Amino acid sequence: MINKCCKCGKKIRWSSKLGSLMKGYAPIICNACNQEYTFSIWSRLLIAPLIPLPILLNIIFHDNMFEIFGKYSLLFYILYIITITLLVPFIARYEIVNAQGK
Ligand SMILES: [Zn+2]
Repeated sequence: MINKCCKCGKKIRWSSKLGSLMKGYAPIICNACNQEYTFSIWSRLLIAPLIPLPILLNIIFHDNMFEIFGKYSLLFYILYIITITLLVPFIARYEIVNAQGK
């Protein structure tokens, strides 16, 4: 992950990264110099399966997993999604968008 803009050295806010994720991997733009950053391909590949993971596990283990949580399974899943979403800005990698490459 990037903490500082590598062009101007200004700190990139965690909320900017989260906002980018919420918009479906939208580019992060440095507030100071407008340098753009995008999620690297492997970050997308890593993050994408995390969201439906509990559902996939549930299918694999034939509904046994969610029986542990019973009626709280939906609540558990919502909490899981929130946790993943909050953690993603810490695990994701970003790449500089080359302005000349556009
Ligand atoms: Zn910058």
